[in-house]
Amino acid sequence: MSEATRVHYRTCPLCEATCGLEVHTEGRRVVRVRGDADDVFSRGYVCPKGTQLGALYADPDRLSRPLVKRDGRHVEVDFDEAFREIEARLLPILEGNRSQVALYLGNPNVHNIAGSIYVRPLIQQLGTKNLYSASTVDQMPKHVSAGLMFGNPGTIPVPDIDRTQHLLMLGANPLESNGSLCTAPDFPGRLKSLRERGGRLVVVDPRRTRTAALADEHHAIRPGTDALLLVSLLQVLFAEERASLGDVADCVDGLAELESAVSPFTPERVAPHCGLAPEAIRSMALQLAEAPSAVVYGRIGTHTVDTGTLASWAADALSTVTGNLDRPGGAMFPLAAHASGEGRGRGRGFQIGRWKSRVREFPEVRGELPIATLADEIETPGEDSVRALVTVAGNPVLSAPEGERLDAAFAELDFMVSVDVYLNETTRHADVILPPASPLESPHYDLAFYGISVRNVANYSPPVFETSGPSESDLLARLALLVAGQGADADTSVLHDMMLRGLVESKVGREGAALAGRDVEEILSALEDRQGAEAMLDVMIRTGPYGDGFGQDPDGLSLEKLEANPHGIDLGPLQPRLPRALSTPSGKVELLPEPIREDLRRLEARLDESPREGLVLVGRRHLRSNNSWMHNVAPLMKGRDRCTLQIHPDDASRLGLEDGKPASIESRVGRITAPVELCDDIRPGVVSLPHGFGHDTEGASLTVAREHAGVNSNRITDGRPLDPLSGNAVLNGIPVEVAPA
Ligand code: SF4
Repeated sequence: MSEATRVHYRTCPLCEATCGLEVHTEGRRVVRVRGDADDVFSRGYVCPKGTQLGALYADPDRLSRPLVKRDGRHVEVDFDEAFREIEARLLPILEGNRSQVALYLGNPNVHNIAGSIYVRPLIQQLGTKNLYSASTVDQMPKHVSAGLMFGNPGTIPVPDIDRTQHLLMLGANPLESNGSLCTAPDFPGRLKSLRERGGRLVVVDPRRTRTAALADEHHAIRPGTDALLLVSLLQVLFAEERASLGDVADCVDGLAELESAVSPFTPERVAPHCGLAPEAIRSMALQLAEAPSAVVYGRIGTHTVDTGTLASWAADALSTVTGNLDRPGGAMFPLAAHASGEGRGRGRGFQIGRWKSRVREFPEVRGELPIATLADEIETPGEDSVRALVTVAGNPVLSAPEGERLDAAFAELDFMVSVDVYLNETTRHADVILPPASPLESPHYDLAFYGISVRNVANYSPPVFETSGPSESDLLARLALLVAGQGADADTSVLHDMMLRGLVESKVGREGAALAGRDVEEILSALEDRQGAEAMLDVMIRTGPYGDGFGQDPDGLSLEKLEANPHGIDLGPLQPRLPRALSTPSGKVELLPEPIREDLRRLEARLDESPREGLVLVGRRHLRSNNSWMHNVAPLMKGRDRCTLQIHPDDASRLGLEDGKPASIESRVGRITAPVELCDDIRPGVVSLPHGFGHDTEGASLTVAREHAGVNSNRITDGRPLDPLSGNAVLNGIPVEVAPA
C-alpha cells in the first residue's frame, strides 16, 4: 500500500442490500473497492456494481456543473445562474396554479440521507397534487397491502430468511437483483445457508432464473396469475383445516371472513389460469403448513401486474394463517435504529383515494398519483394540466410505461428542471439540470432500508471526498426555498435550522415522546457540531429504540457511536413486535381489509373467463445492471449484448425466429425490435426483455451506454391497465405479437 493510499469504510448506496465496502483512495482518485470483510451485516460480500463505485465517480459524463438550455443546447453555468433561471421561469407557473407543476422522484432518492429528508420540504413547498415517483413503477402494491393490514404503508414484514425453514418466493430473482423490499446483503449466500440447514426453497417464476435453479422446486407459472395462485393456497389451507394463527391469534381480525372470501379459489379452478397442476398448488400450500417455520415473499413479477396489491396481501395473509407472522423464521417486522420508538399498537390506519387524478380519476396513494398517468396530465388541456416538471434522480422515459409517449409529452412542457448526475433520456428535456454531489461526497445512512432489513443493523458512513459544489441537502433545501418564494439566493441554513428545531420539538413536546419534558434549547446545543441532514439523523438515532436519549442511556446509540464503529453495529436478529408495530384503528392485523375484499371479486370473475392465451412479455434483471443508470460504467457493460428477447425454442421455431436475428415485438401501444436469444429456461408462451435500455436518444450524453444502446422495453408496456388499488404500472404479462423483423 503506498503512503498516500487511504481506506474508507462505506455502505454501498447502489441497491437495497446495503453492503459494506472498503474504498481505497489516492487523493481524489478511487483506486480500489472491495467488500468490507468486517462489515457486521454483509461480511465482505460485494457484487460487481459495488466494486465500480470509483468508475461511477470518475465517469466523465457525470455532471459537475449545472446545465441550462440555451437555443436548444445545454450549456454549463454556475449554481447561482441556474437557480436564477429556475426562479424566472418556474415561479410564474407556480404562482398561477401550483398543480400545473408536477414532481417526479426517482429511486435513488431513497438511497441517500439528503434525498430521504430534504425531498419532504420540496414536496410541501411545491404544494402540487401532481406528485409521482418510481413507487408506482414497481412497489406501491406492497405499501398498500401493508397499510391496509398493519395500519401503516411503511410497516412491511420481511422474510426472516436467516432462520426460516421454508421460503416460498414468487416473481423475485435475488441472485440478480440482490433483493428488494427485503434488505439482505449476500442474499444468494443466505439462500444457500437456508438449504444447507435443511430448509426448503420453492420458487415460482415464468423463467428458470439463477434463483430458481438454486431451488428445491421451481414452478413456471403463467405471468400475471400470482394472485390467483396465492389466494388458492389460502383456500387449500382452510379446506384442509390447516389454517392457524399461532401466537398472534389475539392480534388478528377477520379469519372467518377470509375463509369465506377465498373459498371459490379452488386449485382446480385456478390451475388452468396459472398453467400449473392442481396437485402442485395443493402441495405448495401443505408444505407451508407443515414446515417448522415458513414465509412467503413476492416481488417485482408479483407486484407489477394488475392484481399486484391482491398478490402482495395474499403473501402476507399466507404467512399469517400458517402461524408464521411475527415469529422467528416467518414474516417479521424490523425495528430500525432511527425509528421513532416501538409504536403504540393502534393508530389512524391507512387510507387511499383522498383525491383523484384529473384525467383518468385514479385514486391518490400515499399522496402520489400513478406515473402511468403523467402523460395524460400533460397532454390533456385544462385548467390544471401539467405545464412544468421537476424531476429528482429519475429517468421515467426509460423506466415508466409508454416511454415514447412520455418522451413526447416532456418535449411539450413549458419548463422542466432536473436534479440529476446525468444528461440522460429524460433530463435532455430539462431547461435546467442541477447536479447533486456524488455519493462518495455525501454522508450515508440507509433511512429507508434498515426499516425492511432481515436483521436490525445500523451503519453510518461519512463522505469519502469533500464536495466541490453544494451538498445534496443544500441543493434540495435551496430548491425548496425557491419554490416557497424565498428567492434564488435564499439562505439554506434557515431551512436546516427550522427542520432541526421542528424535529427536536416533536421529540420533546408530546406526552410519551422520547424526550418528553426535556428542554429544546439544551438538545439543540448538544447538536451544535452537526449540520443539516446529519444533525437530524443524530436526533433520530439518539431518540430511537436503541438511542442514548441525549444522556438518558449512556450505552445507547448516537451518531458519534456509529462513527466510531465504521463496520456497523449489529442490533441483533428481528424480534416479535406485535401488537406494538400495528397502527390500525382496531389495534389488530386486518386479515381481510374492505378494499381487498372488494378487489377479490374482480379476481373471482377471472375464474369464469377462459385462460388467457398468446405470447406475453416479462422483464428481467442482470447482476451488473441497476435499472437504467449503471449502463454508463464501461466495466459493467462488457461481454455479450444483454438487451435480447429471450424466447423458448418451440415458440421461436413456430414463429420463424432465429437466434441472434432481429425480432419485432408489438403490443397495443407500440413496436420495437430486439435480437432473439433462444432460451430453454423460459416458459413457452412467455418472452422476456430487460428494462432500462434504449440509450440511442438524441441529446442524451451517455457515451458508454450509447455503445450498448439496446431498446427501451417501456415503449411497448401499456399505461392503460393498472393495479386499481395501488395505481402501480403493469410491466409484466403484456400481450405481444412477435415476428421476424
Ligand atoms: S449487492 Fe447492492 S449494495 Fe451490495 S455491492 Fe452490489 S450494488 Fe452494492
